[in-house]
Amino acid sequence: MGRDIPLGRLAGIKIGMNVSVLLIAGFNAWVLADNNFPIQVPGLTPVDYWVAGVTAALAFFASLLVHEMGHALVARHEGIGVSGISLWLLGGVARLESSPRTPGAEFRIAVVGPLASAACGVALVSAAYVLPDYGRWHLAGTAAEWLGVINLILAGFNLLPAAPLDGGSVLAALIWSRSGRQSTGKIWAARSGVAVGLAMVWWGLKDMGTNDGIGLWILMVGAFIAMNAWQSLRAAPLFALVEGVRVADAMYADPPTARASDTVADFLRSLPRDTHHQSYPVIGDHGRVTGVLTANAIRAVPSSQWEALRTVELAFPMERITVVRTDEPLLNAIQRIDGGDVRTGLVVDPGGRTVGTVDARALRDLADARRS
Ligand SMILES: [Zn+2]
Repeated sequence: MGRDIPLGRLAGIKIGMNVSVLLIAGFNAWVLADNNFPIQVPGLTPVDYWVAGVTAALAFFASLLVHEMGHALVARHEGIGVSGISLWLLGGVARLESSPRTPGAEFRIAVVGPLASAACGVALVSAAYVLPDYGRWHLAGTAAEWLGVINLILAGFNLLPAAPLDGGSVLAALIWSRSGRQSTGKIWAARSGVAVGLAMVWWGLKDMGTNDGIGLWILMVGAFIAMNAWQSLRAAPLFALVEGVRVADAMYADPPTARASDTVADFLRSLPRDTHHQSYPVIGDHGRVTGVLTANAIRAVPSSQWEALRTVELAFPMERITVVRTDEPLLNAIQRIDGGDVRTGLVVDPGGRTVGTVDARALRDLADARRS
């Protein structure tokens, strides 16, 4: 997907878009201004058609943003951080910092997106209906109708009960609430996602030869859905294994700590020989944790430099470390940590005290222990 072009903030939420959005907007504007509008509303100037085409193409992405803002605002209301919204080729995505803790929260966060699209659709189609049907008013109404119909289609499509669509999350939430097991809901939504995605690929292939180029679009979206759902399906056994496991159950508790003023050599001499810990909080002058030193970082430096190098110089500073809580679901915490740039998390208890470290190894260790 590449990097996002930042578009600023809305209600405190970072908005970005992929460059592919400009391509699609340009393509839509061109098709509308050069083909659809002159046929549907004849007798106006090319400038009129282009103004309407560009406006409608941009408004399309604004309406996607409305959909994603729905997810983001409800998530925030449910106490889940939102790291931003990205618009890209196949729509938008609101990136949540953690997953919902209850089926109710998952349901509400998922269902609000299609509802927002449906509301946009109804408003736009109604506007098209009441606008006068002559001259530029007719053109404006035609553009509103195009956008309204697309929003209604998007609302319906997103409600298909197939992961990773919103309807897939709705299905997963319903099964979760009935069965009490989040993993069961995820597995069924993913299976359905694979089936729906493959059906779309088949449909897209069949439609490829025909006039309108919509086949390629269906094929791409279908392939995206099928691959995404397949990945969730493959991750499902691990998810089921660690369901209900909290960070406190799997973390590396009470790690040896390093004094910020010590050299790396001092620290290594203080370290018990048989320690299984790979990450060590670094304690500053005021007893506060200032960073995390890792065994990998130490190994990356020639041992000849250990006597001169202070632990604080080699440690990752706190700004780069993901802090997770003991009562957070383990999988959630690992996902957050792996999304950061240092693959080690610092674990704090609800009182804010550092009590351990955790990383993806904890997940593997747990899986191995459960299997044997
Ligand atoms: Zn959505």
